Amino acid sequence: MKRFVCLLLALALLPGCQRREDTARQSLFCMDTVMDLQVWGADAQAAAGDLAALLNDLQDQWNACDEESLIGALNQGTAQPDPQQQRLLGRVEELSRRTGGAFDPHLHSVSACWGFPTGDYRVPTREELAEALKEDDWDLGAALKGYAGDRCVELLKGYDVDRAILDLGGNIQTWGEKPDGTPWQIGIRDPRGEGLLGTVSVRGTMAVVTSGDYQRYFEADGKRYHHILDPKTGYPADSGLSAVTVICADGLTADALSTALFVLGLEAGTRLWQESGDFEAVFVLTTGEVFATEGAALSGCDYEVICRED
Ligand code: ADP
Ligand code: MG
Repeated sequence: MKRFVCLLLALALLPGCQRREDTARQSLFCMDTVMDLQVWGADAQAAAGDLAALLNDLQDQWNACDEESLIGALNQGTAQPDPQQQRLLGRVEELSRRTGGAFDPHLHSVSACWGFPTGDYRVPTREELAEALKEDDWDLGAALKGYAGDRCVELLKGYDVDRAILDLGGNIQTWGEKPDGTPWQIGIRDPRGEGLLGTVSVRGTMAVVTSGDYQRYFEADGKRYHHILDPKTGYPADSGLSAVTVICADGLTADALSTALFVLGLEAGTRLWQESGDFEAVFVLTTGEVFATEGAALSGCDYEVICRED
Protein backbone atom coordinates (compact mmCIF):
# COMPACT_ATOMS: atom_id res chain seq x y z
CA MET A 1 0.00 0.00 0.00
CA LYS A 2 2.80 2.37 1.00
CA ARG A 3 4.52 1.71 -2.31
CA PHE A 4 1.29 2.47 -4.15
CA VAL A 5 0.91 5.83 -2.35
CA CYS A 6 4.54 6.72 -3.14
CA LEU A 7 3.98 5.90 -6.77
CA LEU A 8 0.91 8.13 -6.87
CA LEU A 9 2.85 10.96 -5.24
CA ALA A 10 5.70 10.55 -7.69
CA LEU A 11 3.28 10.65 -10.60
CA ALA A 12 1.63 13.77 -9.24
CA LEU A 13 5.01 15.51 -9.06
CA LEU A 14 5.92 14.78 -12.67
CA PRO A 15 5.49 17.93 -14.76
CA GLY A 16 3.24 16.18 -17.26
CA CYS A 17 0.86 15.16 -14.51
CA GLN A 18 0.23 18.67 -13.14
CA ARG A 19 -3.41 19.74 -13.17
CA ARG A 20 -4.20 21.45 -16.43
CA GLU A 21 -5.71 24.88 -16.01
CA ASP A 22 -9.41 24.96 -16.90
CA THR A 23 -10.17 27.11 -19.91
CA ALA A 24 -13.38 28.14 -21.60
CA ARG A 25 -13.89 29.74 -24.98
CA GLN A 26 -17.20 31.03 -26.22
CA SER A 27 -18.25 32.89 -29.37
CA LEU A 28 -21.48 34.79 -29.72
CA PHE A 29 -23.12 37.26 -32.06
CA CYS A 30 -24.06 40.24 -29.94
CA MET A 31 -24.33 44.04 -30.37
CA ASP A 32 -24.26 43.47 -34.13
CA THR A 33 -20.81 41.89 -34.08
CA VAL A 34 -19.02 38.61 -33.42
CA MET A 35 -17.58 38.34 -29.93
CA ASP A 36 -15.03 35.84 -28.64
CA LEU A 37 -14.57 35.21 -24.92
CA GLN A 38 -11.60 33.31 -23.48
CA VAL A 39 -11.41 32.65 -19.75
CA TRP A 40 -8.84 30.68 -17.70
CA GLY A 41 -9.32 29.31 -14.16
CA ALA A 42 -11.35 26.92 -12.04
CA ASP A 43 -14.65 28.72 -12.73
CA ALA A 44 -13.88 29.37 -16.42
CA GLN A 45 -16.93 27.56 -17.82
CA ALA A 46 -19.45 29.16 -15.49
CA ALA A 47 -17.86 32.61 -15.90
CA ALA A 48 -17.88 32.42 -19.72
CA GLY A 49 -21.57 31.44 -19.74
CA ASP A 50 -22.47 34.29 -17.40
CA LEU A 51 -20.40 36.77 -19.41
CA ALA A 52 -22.37 35.82 -22.54
CA ALA A 53 -25.66 36.25 -20.65
CA LEU A 54 -24.55 39.68 -19.35
CA LEU A 55 -23.55 40.83 -22.86
CA ASN A 56 -26.90 39.71 -24.30
CA ASP A 57 -28.71 41.49 -21.50
CA LEU A 58 -26.84 44.75 -22.13
CA GLN A 59 -27.59 44.46 -25.84
CA ASP A 60 -31.31 43.99 -25.11
CA GLN A 61 -31.37 47.08 -22.88
CA TRP A 62 -29.33 49.44 -25.05
CA ASN A 63 -30.22 48.62 -28.67
CA ALA A 64 -31.47 51.98 -29.93
CA CYS A 65 -33.11 50.32 -32.96
CA ASP A 66 -35.39 48.23 -30.76
CA GLU A 67 -38.37 50.29 -29.61
CA GLU A 68 -39.08 47.68 -26.94
CA SER A 69 -35.63 48.12 -25.36
CA LEU A 70 -34.90 50.43 -22.44
CA ILE A 71 -33.16 52.94 -24.73
CA GLY A 72 -36.07 52.71 -27.20
CA ALA A 73 -38.46 53.53 -24.38
CA LEU A 74 -36.20 56.37 -23.16
CA ASN A 75 -36.25 57.83 -26.66
CA GLN A 76 -40.05 57.65 -26.68
CA GLY A 77 -40.24 59.12 -23.19
CA THR A 78 -42.06 56.07 -21.84
CA ALA A 79 -39.42 54.79 -19.36
CA GLN A 80 -37.21 56.00 -16.55
CA PRO A 81 -33.68 54.60 -16.11
CA ASP A 82 -32.88 52.82 -12.83
CA PRO A 83 -29.93 54.21 -10.77
CA GLN A 84 -27.30 52.03 -12.51
CA GLN A 85 -28.62 52.98 -15.97
CA GLN A 86 -28.79 56.64 -14.90
CA ARG A 87 -25.13 56.48 -13.82
CA LEU A 88 -24.16 55.19 -17.27
CA LEU A 89 -26.09 57.99 -19.01
CA GLY A 90 -24.47 60.55 -16.68
CA ARG A 91 -20.98 59.24 -17.45
CA VAL A 92 -21.69 59.26 -21.17
CA GLU A 93 -22.80 62.93 -20.98
CA GLU A 94 -19.62 63.72 -19.04
CA LEU A 95 -17.49 62.08 -21.77
CA SER A 96 -19.33 64.16 -24.35
CA ARG A 97 -18.42 67.35 -22.43
CA ARG A 98 -14.81 66.16 -22.00
CA THR A 99 -14.45 65.79 -25.79
CA GLY A 100 -16.10 69.11 -26.61
CA GLY A 101 -19.05 67.21 -28.10
CA ALA A 102 -16.98 65.16 -30.58
CA PHE A 103 -18.40 62.09 -28.83
CA ASP A 104 -22.14 62.75 -28.97
CA PRO A 105 -24.48 60.05 -27.56
CA HIS A 106 -27.55 61.63 -29.20
CA LEU A 107 -26.96 60.88 -32.88
CA HIS A 108 -29.49 58.09 -33.43
CA SER A 109 -31.67 60.10 -35.87
CA VAL A 110 -28.62 61.30 -37.81
CA SER A 111 -27.21 57.78 -38.07
CA ALA A 112 -30.66 56.53 -39.17
CA CYS A 113 -30.70 59.12 -42.02
CA TRP A 114 -27.66 57.32 -43.47
CA GLY A 115 -29.21 53.89 -42.91
CA PHE A 116 -26.34 52.76 -40.67
CA PRO A 117 -28.48 51.06 -37.99
CA THR A 118 -30.45 49.02 -40.57
CA GLY A 119 -28.01 48.57 -43.47
CA ASP A 120 -30.37 50.41 -45.90
CA TYR A 121 -27.62 52.83 -46.85
CA ARG A 122 -28.36 56.12 -48.62
CA VAL A 123 -26.90 59.64 -48.84
CA PRO A 124 -29.33 62.01 -47.09
CA THR A 125 -29.90 65.62 -48.13
CA ARG A 126 -28.44 68.52 -46.12
CA GLU A 127 -31.97 69.47 -45.06
CA GLU A 128 -32.66 65.98 -43.72
CA LEU A 129 -29.42 66.04 -41.74
CA ALA A 130 -30.16 69.51 -40.35
CA GLU A 131 -33.54 68.25 -39.11
CA ALA A 132 -32.05 65.05 -37.66
CA LEU A 133 -29.34 67.03 -35.81
CA LYS A 134 -32.10 68.82 -33.88
CA GLU A 135 -33.24 65.49 -32.40
CA ASP A 136 -31.58 64.35 -29.20
CA ASP A 137 -32.50 60.66 -29.03
CA TRP A 138 -29.93 58.44 -27.33
CA ASP A 139 -27.52 56.20 -29.24
CA LEU A 140 -24.83 54.50 -27.15
CA GLY A 141 -23.41 52.63 -30.17
CA ALA A 142 -20.01 54.29 -29.73
CA ALA A 143 -19.67 53.42 -26.04
CA LEU A 144 -21.70 50.31 -25.27
CA LYS A 145 -19.06 47.67 -26.05
CA GLY A 146 -16.56 49.55 -23.88
CA TYR A 147 -19.05 49.76 -21.02
CA ALA A 148 -19.82 46.07 -21.54
CA GLY A 149 -16.10 45.33 -21.09
CA ASP A 150 -16.14 47.13 -17.72
CA ARG A 151 -19.23 45.20 -16.63
CA CYS A 152 -17.55 41.92 -17.69
CA VAL A 153 -14.53 42.78 -15.53
CA GLU A 154 -16.83 43.42 -12.55
CA LEU A 155 -18.48 40.05 -13.14
CA LEU A 156 -15.15 38.19 -13.40
CA LYS A 157 -14.10 39.51 -9.98
CA GLY A 158 -16.81 37.32 -8.43
CA TYR A 159 -15.41 34.07 -9.90
CA ASP A 160 -12.39 31.88 -9.29
CA VAL A 161 -10.74 32.81 -12.58
CA ASP A 162 -7.11 33.71 -13.26
CA ARG A 163 -7.33 35.73 -16.43
CA ALA A 164 -9.47 36.45 -19.46
CA ILE A 165 -9.27 38.09 -22.84
CA LEU A 166 -12.55 39.26 -24.33
CA ASP A 167 -12.83 40.30 -27.96
CA LEU A 168 -16.03 42.31 -28.00
CA GLY A 169 -16.03 42.91 -31.75
CA GLY A 170 -12.79 44.86 -32.10
CA ASN A 171 -12.96 46.14 -28.52
CA ILE A 172 -10.43 44.04 -26.61
CA GLN A 173 -10.77 43.77 -22.84
CA THR A 174 -8.07 42.03 -20.83
CA TRP A 175 -8.24 40.91 -17.20
CA GLY A 176 -5.45 39.45 -15.06
CA GLU A 177 -1.87 38.53 -15.86
CA LYS A 178 -0.46 35.80 -18.11
CA PRO A 179 1.24 33.00 -16.10
CA ASP A 180 4.63 33.57 -17.73
CA GLY A 181 4.53 37.25 -16.72
CA THR A 182 4.62 38.55 -20.29
CA PRO A 183 2.15 41.26 -21.36
CA TRP A 184 -0.93 40.63 -23.50
CA GLN A 185 -0.18 41.35 -27.16
CA ILE A 186 -3.12 42.99 -28.92
CA GLY A 187 -3.06 43.23 -32.72
CA ILE A 188 -4.24 46.43 -34.39
CA ARG A 189 -5.78 45.92 -37.80
CA ASP A 190 -4.33 47.69 -40.81
CA PRO A 191 -7.24 49.94 -41.89
CA ARG A 192 -6.34 49.62 -45.57
CA GLY A 193 -5.10 46.02 -45.68
CA GLU A 194 -6.05 42.53 -44.66
CA GLY A 195 -3.45 41.99 -41.96
CA LEU A 196 -2.19 43.70 -38.84
CA LEU A 197 -0.67 47.15 -38.67
CA GLY A 198 1.15 46.40 -35.42
CA THR A 199 0.75 45.19 -31.87
CA VAL A 200 0.25 46.95 -28.55
CA SER A 201 1.39 45.37 -25.26
CA VAL A 202 -0.79 45.76 -22.19
CA ARG A 203 -0.77 44.35 -18.65
CA GLY A 204 -3.57 43.53 -16.25
CA THR A 205 -7.02 44.95 -16.80
CA MET A 206 -7.04 47.11 -19.88
CA ALA A 207 -9.31 48.06 -22.78
CA VAL A 208 -7.88 48.42 -26.29
CA VAL A 209 -10.54 49.95 -28.53
CA THR A 210 -10.36 50.89 -32.20
CA SER A 211 -12.66 53.14 -34.22
CA GLY A 212 -12.10 53.06 -37.96
CA ASP A 213 -13.63 54.13 -41.24
CA TYR A 214 -13.43 50.52 -42.45
CA GLN A 215 -15.71 48.99 -39.82
CA ARG A 216 -19.03 50.06 -41.34
CA TYR A 217 -19.31 52.02 -44.55
CA PHE A 218 -20.86 52.12 -47.98
CA GLU A 219 -19.72 53.63 -51.24
CA ALA A 220 -21.75 55.92 -53.50
CA ASP A 221 -20.53 57.98 -56.45
CA GLY A 222 -17.00 56.70 -55.81
CA LYS A 223 -16.99 58.12 -52.26
CA ARG A 224 -16.73 56.20 -48.98
CA TYR A 225 -19.35 57.08 -46.37
CA HIS A 226 -18.47 55.57 -42.99
CA HIS A 227 -20.41 55.36 -39.72
CA ILE A 228 -18.45 57.73 -37.44
CA LEU A 229 -20.27 61.02 -37.75
CA ASP A 230 -19.17 64.58 -37.10
CA PRO A 231 -21.82 65.91 -34.67
CA LYS A 232 -21.30 69.44 -36.06
CA THR A 233 -22.35 68.52 -39.61
CA GLY A 234 -24.02 65.09 -39.51
CA TYR A 235 -21.61 63.90 -42.24
CA PRO A 236 -19.01 61.14 -41.76
CA ALA A 237 -16.04 62.64 -39.89
CA ASP A 238 -13.38 63.76 -42.34
CA SER A 239 -10.44 64.52 -40.08
CA GLY A 240 -7.68 62.84 -42.07
CA LEU A 241 -7.73 59.63 -39.99
CA SER A 242 -8.63 56.11 -41.03
CA ALA A 243 -8.40 54.57 -37.54
CA VAL A 244 -7.73 55.44 -33.91
CA THR A 245 -6.94 52.98 -31.12
CA VAL A 246 -7.29 54.00 -27.49
CA ILE A 247 -5.67 52.08 -24.60
CA CYS A 248 -7.28 52.83 -21.24
CA ALA A 249 -8.00 51.01 -17.97
CA ASP A 250 -11.64 52.04 -18.27
CA GLY A 251 -13.53 50.46 -21.20
CA LEU A 252 -16.32 53.03 -21.45
CA THR A 253 -13.78 55.86 -21.58
CA ALA A 254 -11.67 53.98 -24.16
CA ASP A 255 -14.67 53.45 -26.44
CA ALA A 256 -16.04 57.00 -26.22
CA LEU A 257 -12.54 58.48 -26.71
CA SER A 258 -11.74 56.30 -29.73
CA THR A 259 -14.81 57.69 -31.48
CA ALA A 260 -14.11 61.24 -30.28
CA LEU A 261 -10.44 61.19 -31.37
CA PHE A 262 -11.51 59.91 -34.78
CA VAL A 263 -13.80 62.95 -35.12
CA LEU A 264 -11.22 65.40 -33.71
CA GLY A 265 -8.27 64.28 -35.86
CA LEU A 266 -4.57 64.11 -35.02
CA GLU A 267 -3.97 67.69 -33.82
CA ALA A 268 -6.99 68.21 -31.58
CA GLY A 269 -6.77 64.56 -30.49
CA THR A 270 -3.15 65.11 -29.44
CA ARG A 271 -4.19 68.18 -27.40
CA LEU A 272 -6.88 66.13 -25.63
CA TRP A 273 -4.26 63.45 -24.80
CA GLN A 274 -1.79 66.08 -23.55
CA GLU A 275 -4.31 67.51 -21.12
CA SER A 276 -5.37 64.02 -19.92
CA GLY A 277 -3.52 61.35 -17.98
CA ASP A 278 -5.73 58.30 -18.30
CA PHE A 279 -5.21 56.96 -21.84
CA GLU A 280 -2.78 56.33 -24.69
CA ALA A 281 -3.63 56.41 -28.39
CA VAL A 282 -2.50 55.26 -31.84
CA PHE A 283 -3.58 57.40 -34.80
CA VAL A 284 -3.51 56.03 -38.36
CA LEU A 285 -3.81 58.73 -41.02
CA THR A 286 -5.54 58.21 -44.37
CA THR A 287 -2.05 58.62 -45.88
CA GLY A 288 -0.95 55.51 -43.96
CA GLU A 289 1.30 57.43 -41.53
CA VAL A 290 1.11 56.24 -37.91
CA PHE A 291 1.45 58.37 -34.74
CA ALA A 292 1.43 56.91 -31.22
CA THR A 293 1.47 58.62 -27.82
CA GLU A 294 4.61 57.93 -25.81
CA GLY A 295 3.03 55.33 -23.50
CA ALA A 296 1.24 53.33 -26.20
CA ALA A 297 3.78 50.42 -26.34
CA LEU A 298 3.23 49.91 -30.07
CA SER A 299 5.50 47.56 -32.02
CA GLY A 300 5.67 45.98 -35.46
CA CYS A 301 5.44 49.16 -37.54
CA ASP A 302 7.16 52.49 -38.12
CA TYR A 303 5.57 55.41 -36.32
CA GLU A 304 6.18 58.85 -34.92
CA VAL A 305 6.00 59.23 -31.15
CA ILE A 306 3.77 61.98 -29.72
CA CYS A 307 5.29 63.46 -26.54
CA ARG A 308 3.78 65.44 -23.66
CA GLU A 309 5.97 68.49 -24.32
CA ASP A 310 5.12 68.91 -28.01
P1 ADP B 1 -17.86 50.59 -33.59
O1 ADP B 1 -19.21 50.62 -32.92
O2 ADP B 1 -17.87 50.17 -35.00
O3 ADP B 1 -16.84 49.89 -32.77
P2 ADP B 1 -17.56 53.32 -32.69
O4 ADP B 1 -17.30 52.96 -31.27
O5 ADP B 1 -16.72 54.44 -33.21
O6 ADP B 1 -17.37 52.11 -33.66
O7 ADP B 1 -19.09 53.72 -32.75
C1 ADP B 1 -19.74 54.08 -33.94
C2 ADP B 1 -21.24 54.13 -33.70
O8 ADP B 1 -21.57 55.14 -32.75
C3 ADP B 1 -22.04 54.47 -34.94
O9 ADP B 1 -22.49 53.32 -35.59
C4 ADP B 1 -23.18 55.32 -34.40
O10 ADP B 1 -24.20 54.48 -33.89
C5 ADP B 1 -22.56 56.03 -33.23
N1 ADP B 1 -21.85 57.30 -33.57
C6 ADP B 1 -21.43 57.76 -34.78
N2 ADP B 1 -20.76 58.92 -34.66
C7 ADP B 1 -20.74 59.20 -33.33
C8 ADP B 1 -20.18 60.27 -32.56
N3 ADP B 1 -19.52 61.29 -33.12
N4 ADP B 1 -20.36 60.23 -31.22
C9 ADP B 1 -21.02 59.21 -30.61
N5 ADP B 1 -21.59 58.20 -31.28
C10 ADP B 1 -21.44 58.18 -32.62
MG1 MG C 1 -16.30 54.06 -29.73
